[in-house]
Amino acid sequence: MMIDLHIHTARCGHAAGRPSEYVAAARQAGLEVIAFTDHLALPDGYDPDGEYAMRPGELAEYVADVRKSAATGGPPRVLLGIEADWVPPYRAQTARAIAAYPFDVVLGSVHFLGDWAFDDPRLIDEWSLRDVAGAWDEYFEVFTQAASSGLFDVMAHPDLVKKFGHVPPGDLISLYDDVAAAMADAGVAVEVSSAGLRKPCREIYPSDDLLAAFRRAGVPVTTASDAHTPEEVGSGLGEVRAAVARAGYESIVYFEAREMREVPL
Ligand code: ZN
Ligand code: FE
Ligand code: FE
Ligand code: ZN
Repeated sequence: MMIDLHIHTARCGHAAGRPSEYVAAARQAGLEVIAFTDHLALPDGYDPDGEYAMRPGELAEYVADVRKSAATGGPPRVLLGIEADWVPPYRAQTARAIAAYPFDVVLGSVHFLGDWAFDDPRLIDEWSLRDVAGAWDEYFEVFTQAASSGLFDVMAHPDLVKKFGHVPPGDLISLYDDVAAAMADAGVAVEVSSAGLRKPCREIYPSDDLLAAFRRAGVPVTTASDAHTPEEVGSGLGEVRAAVARAGYESIVYFEAREMREVPL
């Protein structure tokens, strides 16, 4: 089934386009199910320029916009989602925001190590001060903690830490198997995203090796573009679906009222 479970809109401050434009693009691309998953407002101080996420007061308007485009009828079927950052000291605040609306799907993301937005190109210099293996360990520790929090249905861009091409040397398989086991224990799904293909790493999130580890651990996957413009809806989905098939998956999942639905790939 052609699914894109991760789509942004202009509301987040760094994407372009209204929901109706994304829906039209999705219809054109032959998608059957899409989810709007704009960035939930961040805790105070984490988004000083208002470029990472919607403002706290915008959530109601965002939900109304998405509902309006869902009501026009498919295809595609339009789901109400949200992408929420895992910022550990603000777990309760995040949980309250998520509980305030009847979301179909909640994506969990790690874009911060401490207060460093490690995937922001403007902050890339910080990478030269860091030990790459140390950053990876920290990232996957936080990622695992997020997955286990019970807040999220799907963990987004699982190896986002590689975005700019920083990958530690050596064998990563045992790290990947540990991460995959933690996802299985947490009962979350993970996203296979084409976004990495458009970034310096030039690779799907997750890598083939990490995706194979998810498959070994029995972790369900969904497919996504992480579109930030209408043109990006469904982009790279062919490569994503090929990677999913290569890893041995025959089915993928989406969520409806936060219940997992399994469908043939
Ligand atoms: Zn974004
Ligand atoms: Fe993200
Ligand atoms: Fe996103
Ligand atoms: Zn994202």
